[in-house]
Amino acid sequence: MTTLTVQIERIQEQMQRLRLLRLVDELPALLQEASKKDLAYSDFLEEVLSREIAAKHERHTAMKTAMARFPFQKTIESFDFKFQPSIDPKVIKDLATCRFIADTDNILLLGPPGVGKTHLAVGLGLKACALGYRTAFTTAAGLIATLMRAHNEGRLEEKLKLLVQPKLLIVDEIGYLPIDRLGANLFFQLVSRRYERGAILITSNQSLTGWGEVFGDRVIATAILDRLLHHSTIVNIKGESYRLKEKRKAGLLTRSEPFTDPVRRSDSAENTPTPELVLGADRRS
Ligand code: ADP
Ligand code: MG
Repeated sequence: MTTLTVQIERIQEQMQRLRLLRLVDELPALLQEASKKDLAYSDFLEEVLSREIAAKHERHTAMKTAMARFPFQKTIESFDFKFQPSIDPKVIKDLATCRFIADTDNILLLGPPGVGKTHLAVGLGLKACALGYRTAFTTAAGLIATLMRAHNEGRLEEKLKLLVQPKLLIVDEIGYLPIDRLGANLFFQLVSRRYERGAILITSNQSLTGWGEVFGDRVIATAILDRLLHHSTIVNIKGESYRLKEKRKAGLLTRSEPFTDPVRRSDSAENTPTPELVLGADRRS
């Protein structure tokens, strides 16, 4: 073994102790590269440090992403805005900066099934993770079930404290299943706790006017919306289901089976909040 190899091993050991994990692997190649390019000491040091910082960032993002429990991983970049012209790409790109999280603003993505609400929610969630924000993804049904269980076991307070911690809480699919009075009350408590403390992103196939029915109580629905909408961006998506488009492409739908107009479907959102419900809301879209 040459003296150089021994020295490299020693440095790698020191790097290991400092938890500079990428550098441990890359050191021999980096040293070779540096001598080939005849790098200045300062350039070499900068290169080495920025590699490790990039690796740490990747590790943190991966950890945050795993903790968020997304149902799948789809990015904003892979969203086809041309297919859904009712969405202003500028609004989504602005949301993708995640300023709304720092400002503890909320997002409501409304629209009929298949138009990309969950895709966009996950895409924004991934951005949040990459920026280091603690993020949690849950379905409305899952969230209400969790809150109910905690309530029944006398652990509601504990659970609410935990659910306030993520900087971004994504609640997918409000409106697919009716929520009973207790569920609505528990959800209201959560929204109140997070109010101006942490951002919430909600997707719903129901128009906001339909939320009274979803929560089985107009008063509580209005109270929930009052807090959610105070600082919020509402994105109304109107258009065809991407799933149906894919099916049609695959020849699974015939021409005689046209798309139903999603806006008029019984399970769809007309997505125009009543003036009463958006009173005082800072609507940006
Ligand atoms: P929703 O939550 O509104 O019911 P999803 O987000 O689950 O719809 O979208 C259904 C499927 O179609 C997903 O696989 C999603 O990635 C895809 N999809 C929807 N809209 C688009 C789009 N505009 N560009 C790319 N993929 C899309
Ligand atoms: Mg969805």
